[in-house]
Amino acid sequence: MIDKSMAGRIFVVSGPSGAGKDTLIERALAFVPGVYRSISATTRAPREGEEDGRDYYFMPEGRFKDLIKKERFLEWQEVYGNYYGTLKAEVEEAERMGKDILLGIDVKGALEVKSKRKDALLIFILPPSLEELKSRLAGRSGGEGMSEKDFSTRIAAAEEEIKEGKNFDVVIVNDEIERAALELGSVLKGEREQVR
Ligand code: ADP
Ligand code: 5GP
Repeated sequence: MIDKSMAGRIFVVSGPSGAGKDTLIERALAFVPGVYRSISATTRAPREGEEDGRDYYFMPEGRFKDLIKKERFLEWQEVYGNYYGTLKAEVEEAERMGKDILLGIDVKGALEVKSKRKDALLIFILPPSLEELKSRLAGRSGGEGMSEKDFSTRIAAAEEEIKEGKNFDVVIVNDEIERAALELGSVLKGEREQVR
């Protein structure tokens, strides 16, 4: 039987683009049961290998704006020219399953969640240095196709986003993948056990 009293916690993993959010979330969730990973809605086009309903809910701008009007989002942001948002239905779905929910979203979105849900735990993924961030961003799949302008925009944004790290509950330095994933996993596990 699912113990619903344990569910309903919101974890938000954020940090600059290329910091390693997706990598660490995937690894940590492999050994932390009972956490549902939220699927965001977005207006950006799918990248090679991405699937609708698994990686994102891909949709045209008109539909996204309609959902904004209908107040279906817990939070939404325009990130690098596209819209991204967390549907309230995802949070409800996690609750229905008796699970906690984890959102991997941008820094402004993370702070927006905190303003609405004080109980949310905000986790910041910090790259070991700006130089290392540049090299990871360039090496990430899709990074090869990124224009010089897009690349510089992300780095300029990263410098601003890193300053927001102080407003997060936990900061994890993503120096070495295995170590950082273990740290993220233990933060999630620790919080879940405290609630229990
Ligand atoms: P984000 O989701 O924050 O944009 P990703 O998880 O896509 O970042 O990681 C960006 C790139 O950096 C990927 O190619 C990933 O394999 C690589 N990466 C992530 N963490 C590390 C690490 N600790 N050391 C080296 N490379 C890493
Ligand atoms: P990408 O296009 O590389 O998948 O994501 C670009 C940025 O959008 C990343 O920083 C990612 O974390 C962020 N993002 C993804 N989903 C959401 C969401 O639902 N809300 C917000 N605010 N940001 C999101």
